[in-house]
Amino acid sequence: MEGVQIGVLRRDGRTDAFFDGTAADRLVIKRCAPCGLWFAPDQVACPGCGDEELEWAPAAGTATLVTWTVTHGRPADDGTAPPPAFLALVELAEGPWLHARLDGVDRAALREGLPLRAAFVHPGEGESYVLFRPAD
Ligand SMILES: [Zn+2]
Repeated sequence: MEGVQIGVLRRDGRTDAFFDGTAADRLVIKRCAPCGLWFAPDQVACPGCGDEELEWAPAAGTATLVTWTVTHGRPADDGTAPPPAFLALVELAEGPWLHARLDGVDRAALREGLPLRAAFVHPGEGESYVLFRPAD
């Protein structure tokens, strides 16, 4: 799938709980308690009941691959090519879809429905973030 735009989640007050979660190796997403529906972290209101007080709840961290795209960064100054990055749309076990990078994947092994597990990266600068690795 060409031209997939991967949204980057930023800490903006509404997503603090998400980044507090990733900093602690936990995947935290939105949930509507009355409906029992789960949503992506950037969901604002529940389409089922209109509730704008969605709660944050820990997700299992398991997902399946929906689609992905491979990007190649610019070569470094010395001409060496960076490894390709795999940007994916994954479906969490709870149902919401999430944009995230894949890690530790073999391009030839990528397929729709591939079982994935969340892993957390804690860069020296910036927010911790989640990426997904093959579940086995
Ligand atoms: Zn609801």
